[in-house]
Amino acid sequence: MDFHNKNVDIFFPKNNEQDVLEVDFLAIGAHQDDIEIMSFPPILEAYHSDKKFAAVTCTDGAGSPSSGPYASYTREEMIECRKQEERTAAKLGNYTFLMQLGYTSADARSKEGNDFLVKDLEQIILKYRPKRIYTHNPFDKHKTHLSVYCATIKALHNILKEYEPMKVYGGECWRDLDWIPDGLKETVSIGNDITLLEILLGTYQSQVASGKRYDKAAIARLQANSTYADPYTLDKSNYVSCFLDLTSVALNQISTKDYMERYLTYFLKEVRDNVEKLPW
Ligand SMILES: [Zn+2]
Repeated sequence: MDFHNKNVDIFFPKNNEQDVLEVDFLAIGAHQDDIEIMSFPPILEAYHSDKKFAAVTCTDGAGSPSSGPYASYTREEMIECRKQEERTAAKLGNYTFLMQLGYTSADARSKEGNDFLVKDLEQIILKYRPKRIYTHNPFDKHKTHLSVYCATIKALHNILKEYEPMKVYGGECWRDLDWIPDGLKETVSIGNDITLLEILLGTYQSQVASGKRYDKAAIARLQANSTYADPYTLDKSNYVSCFLDLTSVALNQISTKDYMERYLTYFLKEVRDNVEKLPW
């Protein structure tokens, strides 16, 4: 494959899988820990089966705030640190491969840089033909996440004649999906053992030690998704992930804007209906 950036980092944790032709799950995230935060269910599923999970991280992670033991790190040192952290996660999580594409956040957000990212993603998707793709959801509030969402959807549109994913999902990162009305979001039970996710998120010490406790917050969100799913039934499992099914957008059957408006309309109706039924 011919990638845009010279600093792209390709890692096959299991050497015997370098010649793999297809993967079951491909997660495409903006930053080094996004993959684990937003798409843990397929990581877990592959970990306990012979299915293949692969990850693509689009940016170099240089934009993250650093303090504490990492305060003196140069930009280059922080890039290298984050790269190694995700390699460790890929190894511990038994990923088939991890590709870190090395874009700066500014590049990923710019029209020109995003076009290069689209081409990189097209190549990866066509080569490994994942059955399911996971990426950021369009309601995320982080602009770099939205740029990666945009690049993923554009790449899928560009290659539609050659490849159609069975499913494309948007996961939770910088905005939860619990507000999406029931029946319109997909919820995946993770069970009661969250040890693997604790281990994977624990590899990102540059984030955790700098004061952003993504490790705690991401797991707490999964717990909250379970407990606050339904006020009238007991929790079926301790941890639940929420996803948006973006397949219709990926297949170009509906635009992102129309897709989002549909969800916002449903949300508005649900909230209004509930308020109108109050005993005023
Ligand atoms: Zn991120």
